Amino acid sequence: KVGIGAVLKQKGEDNKLHPIAYFSKKLLSYQQNYSITEIECLAIVEALDFWHHYLYGKEFTVITDHNALRWLKSVKKPNSRLFNWSLKLSQYSFDIKYQSGKTNVEADCLSRSPIDRIENDSHIKIVNLISKQDLIIEQNNAIENKEAIPKRCKKENDLIVRVKNNFHKAFIPEKLRKNLIEKFHLDFGHLGAGKMQKLMSTCYFWPNLSKNISTFVNCCKVCQSNKLSRRKTLGSLSQIGPAKEPFEIISIDTIGGFSGYNSSKQYIHVAIDNFTRFAWCIASKTQSAKDFINLIKSVSSINKPKLIVADRYTGI
Ligand SMILES: [Zn+2]
Repeated sequence: KVGIGAVLKQKGEDNKLHPIAYFSKKLLSYQQNYSITEIECLAIVEALDFWHHYLYGKEFTVITDHNALRWLKSVKKPNSRLFNWSLKLSQYSFDIKYQSGKTNVEADCLSRSPIDRIENDSHIKIVNLISKQDLIIEQNNAIENKEAIPKRCKKENDLIVRVKNNFHKAFIPEKLRKNLIEKFHLDFGHLGAGKMQKLMSTCYFWPNLSKNISTFVNCCKVCQSNKLSRRKTLGSLSQIGPAKEPFEIISIDTIGGFSGYNSSKQYIHVAIDNFTRFAWCIASKTQSAKDFINLIKSVSSINKPKLIVADRYTGI
């Protein structure tokens, strides 16, 4: 035994059970010394704990291939661990149904190839990024097109993989790499390069994987603009005032970094009337005295401001 696994299922409108969540966890080294019955108990306790938010206060059925829970109740002098488990289980209301491992296939499979709990969800997502059939087709295309397959890779069940530290990493042919990185980056909400490298390298393999990921993330417009706004905190408007009437104080400032959206105008020059919060905006390619004058002109076309507060336009 290497791990524990469980499937959470819900009865649908068709009266059939549908899986809604999976759970699997590697056994820690000391847990591997547990008896089969104890491991079975552990699996139930951990799974209920994992889905506590779904199960607490609900009636449900635990399907297991062991009489572990009956055994747990029958233990005459439980040690602290068993007592803890009993206590944990007592907060749920559930029936127990026995079903052999042969028919309880999913839970059995999950326990045989457990995935660490923290990475559980993301792992399933990573593997689903690309279907095995598509990958096999593209791998075969790559071989036909004489794409270099790294020597460290070998074929296993039709799939070219690299086995390292018991991890089977699928070899990704060149054609699929960019799409895969992009899909991953977007699916995981613009994840940073470091985390992407760590997660992707557990499932996929190709030379320069890390480098390709960094290059992609460095070029992602959304990531870049977020980084920019995090780094550059714009100065707050001056604390002069408060203004008691319109056009008494006009604050002006410039925001930059807008290029690339089908326009070469990088800057927006903003003037705000401190009293009414009325704003004037001018977009321009530069940040110069000329822009300042244009901005003031459009303010002055309505009324002459008494005081203009600015922290830029040092050239004036
Ligand atoms: Zn991004």
